[in-house]
Amino acid sequence: MRADVLVRGISQLVTAQGAEPKRGAAMRELRVVERAALAIADGKFAWVGPQRDWSGEAASIVDAGGRAVVPGLVDPHTHAVWTGDRLADFEARLQGVAYEEILARGGGIRSTIRATAAATEEQLVALARPRIAALVRSGATTIEVKSGYGYSVEAELRMLRAIHALAAQAPAWIVPTLLIHVPPAEAAEREEYVKAVCEEMIPAAAREKLAQAVDVFVEKEAWSAAEAERMLTAARAQGLRMKLHTEQFHRVGGLELGVRMGATSVDHLEACSEEQIAVLAASATVATILPGVTLHLGLPAAPGRKLIDAGAAVAVGTDLNPGSSPLYSMQMALALAVRLNGLTAQEALIAGTANAAAALGLRDAGRIEVGLPADFSVLHGADWRELVYALGVNPVRDVWIGGQKVESAA
Ligand SMILES: [Zn+2]
Repeated sequence: MRADVLVRGISQLVTAQGAEPKRGAAMRELRVVERAALAIADGKFAWVGPQRDWSGEAASIVDAGGRAVVPGLVDPHTHAVWTGDRLADFEARLQGVAYEEILARGGGIRSTIRATAAATEEQLVALARPRIAALVRSGATTIEVKSGYGYSVEAELRMLRAIHALAAQAPAWIVPTLLIHVPPAEAAEREEYVKAVCEEMIPAAAREKLAQAVDVFVEKEAWSAAEAERMLTAARAQGLRMKLHTEQFHRVGGLELGVRMGATSVDHLEACSEEQIAVLAASATVATILPGVTLHLGLPAAPGRKLIDAGAAVAVGTDLNPGSSPLYSMQMALALAVRLNGLTAQEALIAGTANAAAALGLRDAGRIEVGLPADFSVLHGADWRELVYALGVNPVRDVWIGGQKVESAA
């Protein structure tokens, strides 16, 4: 075999195997190759195995220096495009005001919506670029980015166009999602807005190929499950994937709606019940948990341990956003999932790679496997578990995306 690049001197190469989401005990089944090498051709993995078994030729050789290699991480849930800041909210919360109360007062997310609506597409891209760069440095090579601070058909489509412009400039693979976030403050305008979402916004996003999925925030202060069903039905009719932010503060039934409609993922789940865990575990829908929110808002943690023990496929994301999760590191999200949600190191790795890809409907990301894009990271250490162990330093040394080294802390 002739490869473009051979990376050798890998102490441990670790990966999930196979494109299907990993459920329950299968979330602990990793392939670990000791003293490994990998070959890259045309931006894809061309060969993976013990170094002693390599017999091909490579145009260039990179020595990993006895360090561990992990798959490129997949961040399946971010709101990386926004303007303004939420520092006043942060300070209010530190003084004891509840997040929901700030939201109900018209602060919180509504202040981000006002600021984002006033920004140009160029401004949105310029602000998002360093956020994506930070996620990449933390090992993320595929990153979902949601709209959702638009509040009108025009503003929401502008956000999606900004995400597309960002995708063209970013070193990572960007997956765009149309998020229907919060309803108009005036109850009388809700019906009109739902109609505009179903009849204008979703068809335009599909027609212009601006989104791969539609996500709806189901919550007491946001949309009802019945409203979400109408909007997700419109999404499904356009061939778009369905996702929900749900069971975050209250049991609102978005979880059951998502399972019934065949949503790709249901995200948050901090408030979900034992019965809901069983419903999710028996479905094909991925459970995406977001421990940055738990840390930042001081909320109860999503039941990651219980979901896995019940047989669910669990993914982890940063939920990077200014209000509830200013977390710019996918590595840190996994480190938090181990501490706050009870995942093992093996489960966290799968939750941030193969299962996170499944949460986006992707079959070609999050694994080191011949034929897939050569997305991987070289860690500083020889043991891959440092990925979920380290707090406050970045254990990721080099990040490769599509067979190119895009980041190096060497
Ligand atoms: Zn979110």
